[in-house]
Amino acid sequence: MFDISSGALTPERVQQFRRKLMQWYRVHARDLPWRNIDSPYHTWVSEIMLQQTRVNAVVDYYRRFMEQFPTVIALALAKEEDVLAAWSGLGYYRRARMLHHAAKFLVAEHEGVLPNNAEALRKLPGIGEYTCAAIASIGFGERIAVVDGNVERVLLRVTGRPEDNTSTGRAFVRSQAQALVPARHPGDHNQAMMELGAMVCTPREPHCKECPVFDLCITRGEHMTNPRPRMRSQTVAYGVWLRNKENATHVLLRKRPVTETLMGGMVELPLIEPEKVLGTEPVLRLRHAITRTNYYVEVYKPNFRAPSGKDLIWVRTTSLDRVAFTGLAKKILVRLDIMRSSLRDRAKGTTDELEAGS
Ligand code: SF4
Repeated sequence: MFDISSGALTPERVQQFRRKLMQWYRVHARDLPWRNIDSPYHTWVSEIMLQQTRVNAVVDYYRRFMEQFPTVIALALAKEEDVLAAWSGLGYYRRARMLHHAAKFLVAEHEGVLPNNAEALRKLPGIGEYTCAAIASIGFGERIAVVDGNVERVLLRVTGRPEDNTSTGRAFVRSQAQALVPARHPGDHNQAMMELGAMVCTPREPHCKECPVFDLCITRGEHMTNPRPRMRSQTVAYGVWLRNKENATHVLLRKRPVTETLMGGMVELPLIEPEKVLGTEPVLRLRHAITRTNYYVEVYKPNFRAPSGKDLIWVRTTSLDRVAFTGLAKKILVRLDIMRSSLRDRAKGTTDELEAGS
């Protein structure tokens, strides 16, 4: 166990760290659509989308989402299925539901305005410690640290502590992160910390030679890193049934029960038992990673009758852009050219890995 004060930054190092970090950030900050916008709502949406999701995968979703739901009120008035459809492919759909729920709550209880401090923001549905600090500091200038995995990694390495993930370790990181936040422009500082972790002090091979705080860092790349957990493998099979009715092509889809923890309420293709398609060649094979599991996905056009059931629905292929698909279902439909090609780019940018915890 470590004493909470061990490796702590001195006031002098804090000043140097802040200065060097901001000099670097002014030059190297990525130009992202949610930056330099004075709107707590924009910060909120971007921070929720960025949870567990790569920046590159978020950019286009964010732009489209803000076009469709430009204000808290617009989001609150939207139907849940439209919000989920706009989120479709981004993964962790619970985030979209909570965002929508919180927008409705804000309209009902706060005249559609986000509270201006972390403590009050924390009381909103779906807003945790990280998100409330991000909105409060970036959107309202509150001097509060945002601690995500990137910030934690930077601080552990700079101070020379191992990645121990204990409550003492977390308290240490939090105290150091808070000590570093300046009174002026705390949101810029927080974004710079996260950017440093994302772009320079990366998990596997940090770019120490390019690091603005190299002189202040104890480990300089010689850090202790926890080994990555092993991925499991699983094979799944889906069926694609198409039919023509009233001069339109329909595809059979399955709505997952709303009560399911994983992607509840989202729409996918019907699962089929692999024994039923023994000896048949799949029309598509792909790998789909979801957190700790690699799915080896096989898609068939079965030659037996389409199943029926309350959870199964035939949907016109021209209406698929309004369906709240799982990322995998969308990927399959686009690859098989069942979904309109205008949605191809949207499906390409999806975060296939990110569904667990929804
Ligand atoms: S010097 Fe290396 S390990 Fe230290 S903070 Fe910079 S990138 Fe990370």
